[in-house]
Amino acid sequence: MSLAVLASGSKGNSALVASARTRILVDTGLSGRETFKRLRAVGEEPASIAAILISHEHSDHICGLAILAKKLNIPVYMTEATFHACARQMRDQQGQKWSCARLETFASGSSFDIGDISVTPFTIPHDAADPVAFTFRAEGVKIAVVTDLGYMPASVKQHIRGCDVLMLESNHDLEMLRVGPYPWSVKQRVLSRVGHLSNEALAEFFSSDYDGSAAFVVLAHLSEQNNHPEIARVAAERALSTRRTLLSNRVLLASQCAPLEPIRL
Ligand SMILES: [Zn+2]
Ligand SMILES: [Zn+2]
Repeated sequence: MSLAVLASGSKGNSALVASARTRILVDTGLSGRETFKRLRAVGEEPASIAAILISHEHSDHICGLAILAKKLNIPVYMTEATFHACARQMRDQQGQKWSCARLETFASGSSFDIGDISVTPFTIPHDAADPVAFTFRAEGVKIAVVTDLGYMPASVKQHIRGCDVLMLESNHDLEMLRVGPYPWSVKQRVLSRVGHLSNEALAEFFSSDYDGSAAFVVLAHLSEQNNHPEIARVAAERALSTRRTLLSNRVLLASQCAPLEPIRL
């Protein structure tokens, strides 16, 4: 199994989860051209992708969806509510709602298979129609991709137990957000129970509830305004180091501007 994060952050999110046989593109927040460029940069051919999977309808997750679905002509998996929210948002020049040629809907909480990868979508607290995060299982490996959540509910903690690769949101440093340039209304949104996960909230998870299973921890969806990669890294590593058995967890940082070297297990 492998995870290649193509981009992560408020300007676009996309990642490739792959087994030896199956490749899944998780979110399409980059343009078609940029997605293809970054896929090739990590050694993947766009034509080999089996399906697109969408977490929620915010534009940093679906910006390239219409063009990628059309060019790749592969199934697009999302919940019914997310599809309707996407379709409303993605109107063409004539004002027609987007229609997805090969739509496959799933329900949050119900696992399904794409090729030999078992996908489990689960609900996350975020201000979208029906937002989900995912775990993926194949070849005895479990990978979680979990961003865009206001806090870490018990159900999410349960779903991400036993992961070999854990990609988790580390969106903002609370103090940087507090003194930063965002208008108060936006700060309130980010901080709310349906906003984004702070470095501090993630550290709290690592030092209290995390089972220490992951060989790799990927910090994701970092804010460019209200966070700094080294601040996020230090917060995570400090929290992980409070638990002696967890020292082997390697912390990586997903970036907005370049793909992360693929993690292979
Ligand atoms: Zn979002
Ligand atoms: Zn997002």
